[in-house]
Amino acid sequence: MSAPFTQRGDPCGQMLQRLWDYLRSEHEGVLLSPYLPTFCAFLTHVTFCAPFLVLDHLAGVSQRLRAWRISADEPPPQLRAWLKCLWKIAVQYLTVVLPASALLQISRSPPQLLERSPTSWQLFVDVFACFLLFDTLFFFWHLCMHRFLWLYRNIHQQHHQHKIPFALQAQDASPLELLSLLLLAQISTCLVNCHPLSQIIFHILNTWLAVEEHCGYNLPWALDRLLPFLGGASHHHTHHRRHNVNFAPYFTHWDHLFGTYSGD
Ligand SMILES: [Zn+2]
Ligand SMILES: [Zn+2]
Repeated sequence: MSAPFTQRGDPCGQMLQRLWDYLRSEHEGVLLSPYLPTFCAFLTHVTFCAPFLVLDHLAGVSQRLRAWRISADEPPPQLRAWLKCLWKIAVQYLTVVLPASALLQISRSPPQLLERSPTSWQLFVDVFACFLLFDTLFFFWHLCMHRFLWLYRNIHQQHHQHKIPFALQAQDASPLELLSLLLLAQISTCLVNCHPLSQIIFHILNTWLAVEEHCGYNLPWALDRLLPFLGGASHHHTHHRRHNVNFAPYFTHWDHLFGTYSGD
């Protein structure tokens, strides 16, 4: 299919336009579905977690892989812990998150499926701005959940049941917390007013980073090794261990500013 708009000198932009044309023509119903954000969040999460299930299994038998674990003395979680966690998340998604998120989507005006895709630069700016905003909103919300006992007990405590996190546990949280995370991500994309394709890419990358920061490994190819302003898995691992530091999900500037940063 030929693209109606050509983005000269921007081969990535041309690929984005072709991808966007395909999605609009073949999957318009899916793009406009009120169930899309929840299905996307759940399916991408499970898909991104799958390699870490294999890694946890291999680290149980390989000392070399075990050395990548942040808590190297602790054995990786067993398959049973994974299945229990998966069941809990699936039930919460089906019974609370899916209906609540669908109601929210139906109450909003449907997204406009513009003909033109973003350029590669626009996509970068959109996604980066969404991450900065989401990181800020989540930092303050997370801080409140730890500072106010009622919020901690009723919303956030479930996420802290594991002192040593594992990948799937990124979404092992109370239904209210899962909903709040979806909402913060959607508020971020609305405030940035980004293209629907940028929104999809932001949600996918957001899920990947959440999985990576809970994976329990200092991987040689982890994004925070390439981008030093990202906290990474050890940053969030410390939060699960100490509770009173490292509240930001991805970047570290808010924790530095508020004196809650720990590099331990
Ligand atoms: Zn966590
Ligand atoms: Zn916390």
